[in-house]
Amino acid sequence: MKMNIWGLLRNILPFVLPYRWLIVVTLVLTLIGSLMAQVNAVVLDRAVDAINAMMQQPGGFHWGEAVRLLSVISFILLGKEVVGAVVTFCQRYYGERMRILVSRDMSLRVVDRILSFRMAFFGSEGNETGKLQSRIDRGIMSMSNTVNNFFIEILPLFTSAILALGLMFAANVYVGLVALCIVPLYFWVTYIQASRMKGGRRGIFGGHQAVSQGILGIIESITVIKSFNREQTEAERQAALQQSMTDLQLNTRKQAYLFNGLKSFLEQIGTVLIIILTAYLVLIDYPGMSIGKIMYHVMLFANVSAPIRQLHRIYDDMNDALIYAEGFFGILHAEDEVEASGKHHPAEVKGDFELRNVDFTYPGGTQALFDVSLHIQSGKITALVGLSGAGKSTIVNLLDKFYLPQRGSILLDGHELTEWDTQWLRENVGLVLQKNHIFDGTIEENIRYGCPSATHDDVVQAARQAYIYDQIMQLPRGFETSALQLSGGQQQRIAIARMFIKNPPIIFLDEPTASLDAIASEQIKASIDAIKKGRTVIIISHNIGQIIDADQIYVLQQGRVVQSGSPEEVYREGGLYKEIFDASASSMNVDKIASITSSAEH
Ligand code: ADP
Repeated sequence: MKMNIWGLLRNILPFVLPYRWLIVVTLVLTLIGSLMAQVNAVVLDRAVDAINAMMQQPGGFHWGEAVRLLSVISFILLGKEVVGAVVTFCQRYYGERMRILVSRDMSLRVVDRILSFRMAFFGSEGNETGKLQSRIDRGIMSMSNTVNNFFIEILPLFTSAILALGLMFAANVYVGLVALCIVPLYFWVTYIQASRMKGGRRGIFGGHQAVSQGILGIIESITVIKSFNREQTEAERQAALQQSMTDLQLNTRKQAYLFNGLKSFLEQIGTVLIIILTAYLVLIDYPGMSIGKIMYHVMLFANVSAPIRQLHRIYDDMNDALIYAEGFFGILHAEDEVEASGKHHPAEVKGDFELRNVDFTYPGGTQALFDVSLHIQSGKITALVGLSGAGKSTIVNLLDKFYLPQRGSILLDGHELTEWDTQWLRENVGLVLQKNHIFDGTIEENIRYGCPSATHDDVVQAARQAYIYDQIMQLPRGFETSALQLSGGQQQRIAIARMFIKNPPIIFLDEPTASLDAIASEQIKASIDAIKKGRTVIIISHNIGQIIDADQIYVLQQGRVVQSGSPEEVYREGGLYKEIFDASASSMNVDKIASITSSAEH
């Protein structure tokens, strides 16, 4: 989605509209503030002319008159300052309020959207965790800054400039025209500056990121760096990064200062022209011109040219906003990424899955499954066997509707998976992965995540079923202990307890013990055996001991089903399964283990 300025405004508008009253208040304040900005010029014009008139009086001036005049001037100028201070305060406060509220709304909106997206969205290019996060962060920051800038800088500055220009025209058309002719020059200089400095700021931003990532990288890999004596190499790499950053920074600064000088000079040329013109008009006695008017126009012109100093920054901010808006609103408008759901919502889910000629390719382009057909019977244990990368987890991803296949069909209890109510399907499926996510929270909260309405007794019951209750009770704070403090094996059992409390009829176990040591695996085996009872279970495991309990085995090789049947049948058939089975047994040195355990028994 290519964004232009109108697109940007159209997209931001829905976030700003709820705060209409804030906009109205800000606009009124802006108008008052802009009027206040012109007061100095008007007062000075009147004061100079009044003093001048006083001095021209034939009999000399009266002190009383002079004091009265000065009192009025002082009162107006000081009063204006007080009003101006209140207006500026309110303007900044309301502008900031708007920025904060808009950025909150944007964050909430984007979180809602992200939660609704299908899995494929997260795997697509540009949506990896880090990138997605920075798209969101920068988008929100830049959008809300734009809103803030608009209300507390752009709008007041430009309103005041337009008002001042109007007053100049009203007082004298020629002076107004001269002032107006200088304005395009400002835009021109700003344009030149922007194109000269293009990329500078962004380069510096990127450089800062690279430098800090480099330092993080050093800290993370300090053991490797030291053990290979690569301190010098790393230092040189950082030095090179820093050097290019320094050059870029210095260059950008130099350009900025040059342009600042040029802009001040232009401003001064404008002022000089105005002085010459107004002085000339006064000298030729042009109607309506007076000495006071010289001051009047000079001061008004200062307001006309005030935005020039900010113009470049505004231009930069707008450019950033346009770039980041593309990434940010791209997420909000990604309608086709929203997860699809059907309506099928039966009271009872049996768990009879059937894959028919399924082809599946990941968003990244890897084809993971080729013409896969298999049948998972309800109430039975089905094991998926194969080497790493064979496509086992992919099948589980498809069965849980995380992804949709490109070809073929998947049926659950006779209905196409696409027809199923996605939430209801997942309500009936439990997933235990190799590494389960433990949230930052207590053990009790982590178990209850499986069923938010569960009571404490339910949580205790689930912990017992997962064989983790006794260990929890030995902790000083019991169920109130932070779950992140538990060992890997204990966390895995918390995840299994979460499954028990959810109590789904279908369970997918994807290498639930792969990252655990032998003792932990053995302990978890008991909880897994308990979980299997009376449910449809699909298990993926490299642990032969867990596979041979299965009722049915499917052997996968490079995305294709190459063997299927009961464990004994498939073993007898030979082929890949026998290879894996024998290798697994010999790697465990089963014969020797058997002789050791039997000799120890005798
Ligand atoms: P297994 O579970 O049998 O080890 P997977 O199903 O995880 O295998 O992977 C099958 C193939 O799909 C592999 O080539 C893997 O690289 C690829 N793959 C797995 N997950 C993704 C993903 N999220 N995005 C892209 N490719 C993936």
